[in-house]
Amino acid sequence: MAKIFAVANQKGGVGKTTSAVNLAASLAATRQRVLLVDLDPQGNATMGCGVDKHALERSSCEVLLGEATVTDARQPVLDGAFDLLPANGDLTAAEVELMGAMLKEQRLRGALEKVHGDYDFIVVDCPPSLNMLTLNAMVAAEGVIIPMQCEYYALEGLSALMDTIEQIRDSVNPGLRVEGILRTMFDPRVNLADEVSAQLVEHFGQQVYNTVIPRNVRLAEAPSFGTPVLHYDKASRGAMAYLALAGEILRRADAVAA
Ligand code: ADP
Ligand code: MG
Repeated sequence: MAKIFAVANQKGGVGKTTSAVNLAASLAATRQRVLLVDLDPQGNATMGCGVDKHALERSSCEVLLGEATVTDARQPVLDGAFDLLPANGDLTAAEVELMGAMLKEQRLRGALEKVHGDYDFIVVDCPPSLNMLTLNAMVAAEGVIIPMQCEYYALEGLSALMDTIEQIRDSVNPGLRVEGILRTMFDPRVNLADEVSAQLVEHFGQQVYNTVIPRNVRLAEAPSFGTPVLHYDKASRGAMAYLALAGEILRRADAVAA
């Protein structure tokens, strides 16, 4: 049975897509079977895996609307390293259409149930909003990975996210938990980053990953080549950091299973 993680934070530009793509690639590099689900109409994760979002026959939009199965819409990427359920702007229309639909927040869960056995991990990249798409991801997931930049306003909005997670846990998905808070784009030369980082650990303790993702230009460059950083510069600090994150997640999963 696949472990499903939603990578979510309603703030834009905090490293959700970078983390989803590179975590998927890093888990795949350790021989895990991985599906990356793009649930953002911007299609950044799709492009970041080298798939042209303008040329999709089927995407997560059709899956959410019940017009295609995951099996129909997924595609292998990066020479078969992992599978991608791609997305593009059509998802915006799907979000609107879902508003009035039955069991609208359970569409992704239902669709992924049919491919549970095909994967060890399913990683869902969420849009920068607590909308119906993000709700679908959280209803399908067992854990939420929250990327955060250690800056002054970082903690603002976190309580709304935590409240949403709690509401979903209390209603449709009792197993949902915060899988981990991930410090991204970390620059140790910035005093404030250290302070906010310390605050996060004080506040959330074990929920904060030990792995810290540094600010690294290779991570920002890789998407323009349509590839995760591991396939672009595997010796870079960014690549090492996401491999370490995959290791930490695998160890946590083993600890839970033991
Ligand atoms: P989100 O999906 O939360 O909107 P992204 O992952 O797209 O955030 O990241 C926002 C921008 O920051 C992108 O241009 C991305 O390339 C860049 N970026 C993300 N993480 C890093 C990092 N660790 N180092 C340098 N640049 C980064
Ligand atoms: Mg994104």
